[in-house]
Amino acid sequence: MADPQGFLKHREREVPKSRPVPIRLLDWKDVKDELSKDEPTLRRQATRCMDCGIPFCHQGCPLGNIIPEWNDLVRQGQWEDAIERLHATNNFPDFTGRICPAPCETSCVLGINQPAVTIKNIEAEIIDRAFADGTVTPHIPQRQTGKTVAVVGSGPAGLAAAQQLTRAGHTVRVYERDDRIGGLMRYGVPDFKLEKIHIDRRIEQMEAEGTRFRTDVEIGKDITWEELRARYDSVLVATGSPKPRDLPLPGRDLDGIHYAMPYLHQGNQAAAGETVENQITAEGKHVIVIGGGDTGSDCIGTALRQKAASVTTLAIGKELPHDRPDTEPWPTDPRVFEVSSSHEEGGERHFLASTVEFLGNEAGQVLRSGSPKRSTTLTGPVPPRPAPSGTFPRISC
Ligand SMILES: Cc1cc2nc3c(=O)[nH]c(=O)nc-3n(C[C@H](O)[C@H](O)[C@H](O)COP(=O)(O)OP(=O)(O)OC[C@H]3O[C@@H](n4cnc5c(N)ncnc54)[C@H](O)[C@@H]3O)c2cc1C
Repeated sequence: MADPQGFLKHREREVPKSRPVPIRLLDWKDVKDELSKDEPTLRRQATRCMDCGIPFCHQGCPLGNIIPEWNDLVRQGQWEDAIERLHATNNFPDFTGRICPAPCETSCVLGINQPAVTIKNIEAEIIDRAFADGTVTPHIPQRQTGKTVAVVGSGPAGLAAAQQLTRAGHTVRVYERDDRIGGLMRYGVPDFKLEKIHIDRRIEQMEAEGTRFRTDVEIGKDITWEELRARYDSVLVATGSPKPRDLPLPGRDLDGIHYAMPYLHQGNQAAAGETVENQITAEGKHVIVIGGGDTGSDCIGTALRQKAASVTTLAIGKELPHDRPDTEPWPTDPRVFEVSSSHEEGGERHFLASTVEFLGNEAGQVLRSGSPKRSTTLTGPVPPRPAPSGTFPRISC
């Protein structure tokens, strides 16, 4: 039973600090400062969960995490029981505790008139401690069913399905067309949001449980879907959504205009120490990021670490309200202005900016222009800037 008055004793919402911007821009490591985490703070924050009776956070969480229960276990310092409750609904709290947008927090009952419980941070801490304490062990099935399953795609969906199926006793093989396991967590989300050690240690656990992995195999090309279907009792498709949205505008075929995913994919490969030939890099360039969402934000953080000369984001939508609007009351997940860790690090953001044309030079290279006439490539309140020299990549997100 939670402390029913905890939220009255501890009104402040405390989350770990981020490392200072000038320091974190020098590397690709997690922006969060590990040293700023301490047990009394976490337990104090967990105490703010009042076990409200109708936990709207369950509804907010797409996994149905039993949040009040593990909050209360953390309050009491029962970390081993807390990870058991967390794992009951979530295969990989190490991923979600870092990169989930946390709709549980926007639906937290405390959020009606106080800052919400720091659910996401508590979740990350429970699993980090479990790994540190050695309580995350392989769950080897007691008996095999004799059934075989192929899982196509090794993103979080494929991995979670493969882990559950293996633990149920089926013989599971995951097929991945990339050279490494992890899907967009491996090659989309940059290390400063999710370091790849978190994926690697889960793969180790899964291999010890019996899941097998095959990389560099594209189903539909290297093995036909019919062949796969014939080889296995079941096939589970978890191939994600890799199709980019194009901007079919005049000048689109100019050099220097890239989709976000190849850019981030290569950035992640380079950060992992791999050699990338002809890498798209923002180094020394003026970068325009078209698209104001999470992918755009990851492009900003990547470009700044690559030492771009400048980074400007063009968002087609208007600047969202900074506080929850009356039209999106608790417990909905409101659309509000977001400042990600990458936004904190630098760059300009422009809103109501619709791209209508890309301008280039005679060599076919896209160019930056700040003259009022040529800035008709953009609509909306984009202040004219002096035109710097040089070329730059535009990253379409
Ligand atoms: C840049 C970026 C940042 C993001 N940041 C966040 C975030 O901070 N928080 C968040 O919650 N979500 C974030 N997302 C979204 C999140 O990454 C996705 O929702 C999630 O990865 C989807 O998981 P999935 O397993 O369905 O697919 P994916 O992660 O896309 O994995 C699918 C896998 O299937 C493989 N595949 C596809 N076709 C085949 C085939 N024919 N044969 C073999 N393999 C195949 C692909 O190579 C890929 O590895 C982000 C996405 C991007 C692009």
